[in-house]
Amino acid sequence: MKDKKCTNCGSEEFTEATDYMPVKPSKMSFSGSNKIYTFCLECGEVHSVRIENTTIFKK
Ligand SMILES: [Zn+2]
Repeated sequence: MKDKKCTNCGSEEFTEATDYMPVKPSKMSFSGSNKIYTFCLECGEVHSVRIENTTIFKK
């Protein structure tokens, strides 16, 4: 993860974390997927949010 630079503070130190609430295709869905946040370790600026498992959204 060395190709990124924080737009807020210029730091190149990023880390990833997940949310405890999975995202789901609909309220009735049993399957959910984690959100992966990539954010600056210095100031907390979020660089990207990624959905871990996109296959459950494909029809
Ligand atoms: Zn930063």
